[in-house]
Amino acid sequence: MCKAEVTEPPENPPFRVSDLCRLMEAYLPPDQVREIYGAYLFGAEAHDGQVRQSGEAYISHPVAVAGILAEMQLDKATLEAALLHDVIEDTECNKARITELFGAQVAELVDGVSKLKHIKTADEEASGANSKAELKAASLQKMLMAMIQDVRVILVKLADRLHNMRTLGAKKPGSRRRIGRETLEIYAPIATRLGMGKIALELENLSFAALHPWRSRVIIHHLQKNRERQREKAETILTSLRTRLAEAEIEAEVLFRDKHLYRVYSRIRDKHIGFKKHQRQNIGVRIIVDKPDTCYRVLGIVHSLYQPKPGRFKDYIAIPKTNYYQSLHTDVLSAIEGINDIAVQIRTEDMHQFAEYGITSYSLYRSCGEENSSPRHAGNWFRNLRDMQRSAGSPLEFVENVKRDLFPDEVYVLTPKGEIIELPRNATVVDFAYTVHSDVGQRLIAARIDGELVSLDTVLRTGQRVEAITANWASPKIEWLDFVVSGRARGHIRNFLKNLQREKAVNLGQRILDRELNRYGWSVESLSEAQRNALLSTFKFKQLGDLLADIGLGNHLAYAVARQLVDDSDAADKDLQSQDGGAENAPPSAKKPLIIKGTEGMLISLAKCCHPIPGDAIRGHVSPGKGIVVHRQACPNATRHQQATENWLELRWEEQVDARFPVEIGIELHNQMGALATISAALANLEINIEHVNTSQKDGINTVLWLVIQVQNRIHLATIMRHLRRLKAVTRIVRR
Ligand code: MN
Repeated sequence: MCKAEVTEPPENPPFRVSDLCRLMEAYLPPDQVREIYGAYLFGAEAHDGQVRQSGEAYISHPVAVAGILAEMQLDKATLEAALLHDVIEDTECNKARITELFGAQVAELVDGVSKLKHIKTADEEASGANSKAELKAASLQKMLMAMIQDVRVILVKLADRLHNMRTLGAKKPGSRRRIGRETLEIYAPIATRLGMGKIALELENLSFAALHPWRSRVIIHHLQKNRERQREKAETILTSLRTRLAEAEIEAEVLFRDKHLYRVYSRIRDKHIGFKKHQRQNIGVRIIVDKPDTCYRVLGIVHSLYQPKPGRFKDYIAIPKTNYYQSLHTDVLSAIEGINDIAVQIRTEDMHQFAEYGITSYSLYRSCGEENSSPRHAGNWFRNLRDMQRSAGSPLEFVENVKRDLFPDEVYVLTPKGEIIELPRNATVVDFAYTVHSDVGQRLIAARIDGELVSLDTVLRTGQRVEAITANWASPKIEWLDFVVSGRARGHIRNFLKNLQREKAVNLGQRILDRELNRYGWSVESLSEAQRNALLSTFKFKQLGDLLADIGLGNHLAYAVARQLVDDSDAADKDLQSQDGGAENAPPSAKKPLIIKGTEGMLISLAKCCHPIPGDAIRGHVSPGKGIVVHRQACPNATRHQQATENWLELRWEEQVDARFPVEIGIELHNQMGALATISAALANLEINIEHVNTSQKDGINTVLWLVIQVQNRIHLATIMRHLRRLKAVTRIVRR
């Protein structure tokens, strides 16, 4: 987060359209100013008769919003859109009319900031709830998607929000808090993400004051007193810095940095420290120079003058923040009584401009720039947003992911080639893989950190070298959702599971139902239209696929569904009689076994007690919501269950299964240093992923190492066990 100079709480002298014209005339040609004025006249007429809560005519608000954008010297379309930004939402005028009068570009911008009045994709929210929260989330989603097309949408929205925050006083305390919270959670971080430090800072301070009026008054009071108290000492520090820089013949601007309400509050809150302790004894200094090289020279001078605090130096020039903020940061110890730390920021004038104005500091959006493109640096974030949008289950989920993404507390790791990858705090190996490339994530099986094999949920730390190991047969696991933190990874995994689940549930459901129907000489394919409809109405489904999916998921028993058909159908009665009269009571073993692949995702789960793998003799039972739970025939748990559950299925593995499955093996070892390392190295050589490790002491000499590893089938397992048996440390090896 960048620290910009303090923005004093605005006094709000009424900002008039003449003020706006004066601002525009300073940088736009007269004919453009005239056209923008046309948008003002149109807006004034459309909003005629509407009044703000403060009592002013409504049009004063769009004028002020345009004013904020004109101060940033933005182009004509942006200013026109600002003047018209509430027209679609609040007046009779529609998008077509705006297109006609002001062109498609302006119309798209205005439409982008307009809230949805109802959610259009109602099929997703079948419950039909359309709650306020959902509507709000859907509106935000729409706006962010429009922003990806044209970043000016968000510039208008941020200016809109800023003016609303400045004039929040007219609202009731309840809505002040609600708007303040939303601004702090969404809009201020978006401004930060786009590098617009100045707007972000003002939004944060205004939101904080709206949320916590009393706390904010106390902190402001302390900050003012503190500033007076420190002034003299700060001057001494600035003077010594200036003198030293002049001696080195470096031209630099050395400034005292003011503290900001919300940033001070966050620091006090996060570090659980008192205001006095934190604030009294440190000051902030900013040094602005001509070019990046000079920044590093200045850093050397600062460090020779004051002792640097260890671990407090950050080089955001070499590794800019996500929002491309650049600066050198260092904390040094002051030699002056009463002041402990000096937090120093060193940057060039260009970096400073960018820290204040972000994407709007590019000439692209200043005055008459190119249209409809997003600045390169925002592209990365926009790509993430698009991924999240594609994979989110609902607008609410999308907004959650966006929020998560907007609060990056970054970690930097390296790829084997030395490329720097930036990740959010608590990111794991899986997040890393998805950030490198979605394909790497989808095919991830194992990883090395600084050469050591680690499990996939390992949390990464800055500076580590991470290598993702992939295999073509691999696919994302539902467990990953428990620990991934990036919206991107979460989105890809969810998307994968969603498709997989539906498709495989239908497929499995059909196989299970076919197996039941076979007993009556039927199949799902051969059902008549009337039979299908009867089934759907009995079980209250719209289409056959939904019913099959539910069977696949274990929510409906195929047996019951088949019985229903039989009961409903006269023809079925005859068929029944022609069989031996009791087919529906036949024991399960009379049925043909169901063929499984084990890769049906969530629909088939392999029991953890016996870890069945292809080649094993297996059986299973249906568990609601879990699908079929597969055990080995010999599993004692399964035998115990069998008496209790009537619902056992005979299962068989498909001949060729191209996937890996967990299996547990016990390795008895001489108590020998490094035995585990030897074994994990051997397994790594065989490209075997270790899922879980446990040890138990057998006696004084021998230890048993229990490993859950991933194998293809019994033959594969046998090969691995043979390899391990050859190791000197290993005395015995068994499958559990
Ligand atoms: Mn507005």
